[in-house]
Amino acid sequence: MKDTHDISPAAQAELWRDRYSKVALIGGRLVPSANAIEVIEPAHMTVLGEVAANDAADVNAAVAAAKAAAHDWAETPARERGRLVAEAGRIMLAQLEPLAHLLARETGKAIRTECRGEIRVAADLLEMFGGLGSEIKGETLPFAPDVFAATTREPVGVVGAILPWNVPLVLMMLKIAPALVAGNPVVIKASEVAPFATYACAEMLAALLPEGVINVVCGSGAECGQALVDHRDVAKITFTGSEAVGEKIYISAAKRLIPVSLELGGKSPMIVCADVDLERAVEGAVTGMRFTRQGQSCTAASRIYVHADIHDAFVAALKARLDTLVIGDPLDEATDIGTISSPQQVAKVKGYVALADAAPEAEVIRCAKLPEADTLAPDLFLQPTLVLGIDPQSPVVQEEIFGPVTVIRKWTSYDEVMAQANDTDFGLAASIWTKDLATALTASKQLDAGFVQVNAGFTIQPNLSYGGFGRSGLGKEASLESMLEHFTRKKTVVLSMS
Ligand code: NAD
Repeated sequence: MKDTHDISPAAQAELWRDRYSKVALIGGRLVPSANAIEVIEPAHMTVLGEVAANDAADVNAAVAAAKAAAHDWAETPARERGRLVAEAGRIMLAQLEPLAHLLARETGKAIRTECRGEIRVAADLLEMFGGLGSEIKGETLPFAPDVFAATTREPVGVVGAILPWNVPLVLMMLKIAPALVAGNPVVIKASEVAPFATYACAEMLAALLPEGVINVVCGSGAECGQALVDHRDVAKITFTGSEAVGEKIYISAAKRLIPVSLELGGKSPMIVCADVDLERAVEGAVTGMRFTRQGQSCTAASRIYVHADIHDAFVAALKARLDTLVIGDPLDEATDIGTISSPQQVAKVKGYVALADAAPEAEVIRCAKLPEADTLAPDLFLQPTLVLGIDPQSPVVQEEIFGPVTVIRKWTSYDEVMAQANDTDFGLAASIWTKDLATALTASKQLDAGFVQVNAGFTIQPNLSYGGFGRSGLGKEASLESMLEHFTRKKTVVLSMS
């Protein structure tokens, strides 16, 4: 890659966009693709660029390059692998501004509130996993006096990593950083909606790693993604995305008997007790619901249960706080909330809001002002929306909306609110807000979710084991445990001394 330190972030972002137009990254080279998909910049609904629409033959080439690199990479000392991965994190940080610029343009997320932070967390994941090389160790097993028995951990082989569009860089690093440090080559299937920043980061890694250890393909899920899942030389699939696609991938992987990890959707409850500091809980709802990401988060607190004693005050304070947020151009430093990622996603979100509008028992409150600038695509911006009092069995309460819409329900009985909180098929995240330690500890045991928080609404964090129960997925990410479980296989070695 050309050294471009003296150009503006915007210009560097455009250079990357052009560089990664209609190519796959295979064996350290950018390989032109015969077909392409348009990438739309949602804030303006204009074409940002074109990304490769790779087919099964391209996927085959990428997997072959990864397979060719597998042996030598597995033989590279684990700490050296980790050192290279951590180094890539530092290089990424040095490119924070242009990466944030590109990410904001392709995802529609606001650069100040979302994109810079995403790059910091992605780089942090590279650094964290990079430091874990020496933890890939086995055990000795007490078996018999004249037998030495031990386990070792080996790489699993070529890893296919399939990414969604909402937080592409963090989700990419959650997968590839542990896979690489554990000694596996990877083939990334970038999101066709937001691919370019993924390519830029992958090439930063490729510049440090041996040829073929990291490869990127892109294209439609049905053609390119499915070809990766079905490839006989792919030993493991790690996927983040929708429930429907996760189910398909699980079935395909079952036919080949290969392991998969799946991070899918969520409908995360936030329970607010009467004893909270109201201001803090309201701020927790703004953060927990990821309103600055337009609610496009799997862990979004999209069901908020507020004790009757403070319900009205909470709703009023939340509305007042949301009204202060600026919806606008993702690249404008004044903007808190950017766009929804695509017109299809807008239609999906609006469908749920229409259901709420039509429900006689519900009240729908729209917050903050839509932008007026005529340079922006008006249909892609949506207001943060609160849906009060809707029937608990409504699809608005039961299904993932993946937009800036949260349900708020009033409660009085702890047992009833706990039953409602656990009454969906998902189990990704949950939070309880209270000053009472006993309530906090009891609720953290009873909440049926893989990530439970008390008086907090963190998103994915390096070193906090993360992953859902039920239809939210299979397996954990972000931790040493996840690296060992998903990206190594355990071998038992027995040595007879007699
Ligand atoms: P999606 O499922 O539509 O697509 C995700 C990826 O899978 C894309 O790269 C797509 O091309 C690919 N794909 C589609 N069909 C495929 C197939 N048959 N075989 C292989 N790959 C295929 O998801 P999306 O719309 O990009 O992302 C939004 C979804 O991601 C939401 O449901 C959200 O909850 C989920 N998500 C989950 C987490 C989590 O950690 N649990 C985090 C972020 C997003």
